[in-house]
Amino acid sequence: MSEETLSNLSREDRSFEPPADLAASANVTAEAYDRAAADRDGFWAEAAERLDWSQKWDRVLDWDDPPFAKWFVGGKLNAAHNCVDRHVEAGNGDKVAIHWVGEPADDKRTITYSDLKDEVCRAANALLSLGVQAGDRVAIYMPMIPETVVAMLACARIGAPHTVVFGGFSSDALASRLVDCEAKVVITSDGGYRRGAASGLKPAVDEARAKAAGEGFDVEHVLVVRRTGQDLGENGWDDGVDVWWHDVVDSASAEHEAEAFDAEHPLYVMYTSGTTGKPKGILHTTGGYLVGTSYTHNAVFDLKPETDVYWCTADVGWVTGHSYMVYGPLANGATQVMYEGTPDAPHKGRWWEIIQDYKVTIFYTAPTAIRTFMKQGREIPDGFDLSSLRLLGSVGESINPEAYMWYREVIGGDRCPIVDTWWQTETGQIMISPLPGVTAGKPGSAMTPMPGVEADVVNDDGESVPNGSGGYLVLKQPWPAMLRTLWGDDERFKDTYWSRFKKQGFYFAGDGAKKDDDGDIWLLGRVDDVMNVSGHRLSTTEIESALVSHPKVAEAAVVGAADETTGQAVCAFVILRDSAGDGGEDIVEELRRHVQKEIGAIAKPRQIMVVPELPKTRSGKIMRRLLKDIAEHREVGDVTTLADSTVMDLISKKEGSAAGDEA
Ligand code: ATP
Ligand code: MG
Repeated sequence: MSEETLSNLSREDRSFEPPADLAASANVTAEAYDRAAADRDGFWAEAAERLDWSQKWDRVLDWDDPPFAKWFVGGKLNAAHNCVDRHVEAGNGDKVAIHWVGEPADDKRTITYSDLKDEVCRAANALLSLGVQAGDRVAIYMPMIPETVVAMLACARIGAPHTVVFGGFSSDALASRLVDCEAKVVITSDGGYRRGAASGLKPAVDEARAKAAGEGFDVEHVLVVRRTGQDLGENGWDDGVDVWWHDVVDSASAEHEAEAFDAEHPLYVMYTSGTTGKPKGILHTTGGYLVGTSYTHNAVFDLKPETDVYWCTADVGWVTGHSYMVYGPLANGATQVMYEGTPDAPHKGRWWEIIQDYKVTIFYTAPTAIRTFMKQGREIPDGFDLSSLRLLGSVGESINPEAYMWYREVIGGDRCPIVDTWWQTETGQIMISPLPGVTAGKPGSAMTPMPGVEADVVNDDGESVPNGSGGYLVLKQPWPAMLRTLWGDDERFKDTYWSRFKKQGFYFAGDGAKKDDDGDIWLLGRVDDVMNVSGHRLSTTEIESALVSHPKVAEAAVVGAADETTGQAVCAFVILRDSAGDGGEDIVEELRRHVQKEIGAIAKPRQIMVVPELPKTRSGKIMRRLLKDIAEHREVGDVTTLADSTVMDLISKKEGSAAGDEA
């Protein structure tokens, strides 16, 4: 079937210029684009000079055997030294690295760079005493406490790649990751706090260890931080395996000489969110990753380490927590906030209270959180002083223009620019984003590829599409923090990312995108989610954003369901704002008409269901494939990466009773 490329239907005319003071003092100016375009390798080599190398590289990039890249070939460095020691050596030991905020009120810790250095050295010595050697994998299954960051840096310090598994995952998810990367040691805690209650983590590790053993893989040690003091039960401790953190770390020496590792030494394995299917084990290595994250963190967030207080709300179990809470900000010597709990504990204004208390200046979060706050209403953030903020960021999904405007006005007081950052676990670093002192912000657009990044939108044949058209997002040249492979599976690595545009040698991101008339990039949703209605390829993102622009709607998810006459039909699931009550009797018709008005008749949903919740991954992304199962009356597929499995039952029930609503 010959198809139109992805429709370019919605229009957005709003645009916000960078604030003059920010533009005047920005860390990175427009000149960076030219410099990178003139000599990309030279540009990244210059970025690499931001770090301390024990031995300088001989070659910036080895791309002789694509898609297997090597960056900073021959260079040697230690990631932990770069994130911690060098700041202490530069006289900044007393500077706060982490303002840690526990979920229970008054549970707070302030950690300076000197404190962090001592802790990381102790933990490194403790891991060595447990027999961990360079190259051994260590799993980290922890709540958001300082020891989690310490554990990651301790692993990096001794060259043992870590794999952080989100603390909310089940023992099954943990077991499969332990087996997949053969983790020698697991670092965990007795438990963590969530919504006011202590919940256990160690029991899940025991279960996962037993499951792994059933598959023939034995974990050697479990290192346990005491966080909640929960009773571990009679069988909850195995003397041959389990070790308390305070027994081995607290007594260890705070002296540890960081060894320099090869730039291509594995730093970590991180599994993707699992929005589209089974998670993939992404391998990142040391030199290029640290260059890519530290450069982009400095450029995109315009970090002024002496005065800024930075806060990235991502859990450390996701790549955003790795690149923009641990490695990027610490490499740049940032002072940051780290928060243990949920945004609504003990009250719905907790995040805004933290911003007020710590005078946060740079704030980085996800659209899913913004839409939740939007649903609850602006009265909550309006009760706090958010005037310290100067820059806002967004990551994880496209930000609907309506959510962008709310974020800008209500949180940013109409003065803070928003950086909408597109990237993936695989890319390691931000790839497409405004530069806050250079690029105007358009609500819903990630705007332009970063300096040194060659992103483009292409058609089926891999040809760059003209402005005003849509297609596939690709990366045409390697970049420093790119994934090196999928852990233990080079073939799947090649198939997944490099086969779609093999002839051209492009990296296929799996996302649809369009270029507007100015050539700025808009992300349109997963290529797998693109709908085909009567030969028109429609984007999930655009229809969702049209729904969210209705004053009664807080969130929307759109999928294409098989349809006898049109091939596929648009089916929408919406969450209403609290202020809209049940939306009124005609809500479905009202929303259908609204989409028709905003986009056109072709995008008018066949069916709209008002639901209380949407299925999301634990990183907060909408799982459209499950909604598609519902819309096509199929049994719901794999839900193991779903945050709350009861959500699907709620929606299925709704669908049973709403079948008559189909128009
Ligand atoms: P899996 O690959 O296992 O299905 P995932 O793709 O959700 O999981 P991540 O690496 O966490 O795992 O997410 C990357 C994806 O998130 C991108 O491919 C894109 O679809 C989406 N994304 C991230 N940031 C943005 C953004 N600013 N705008 C639009 N989409 C974004
Ligand atoms: Mg993905």
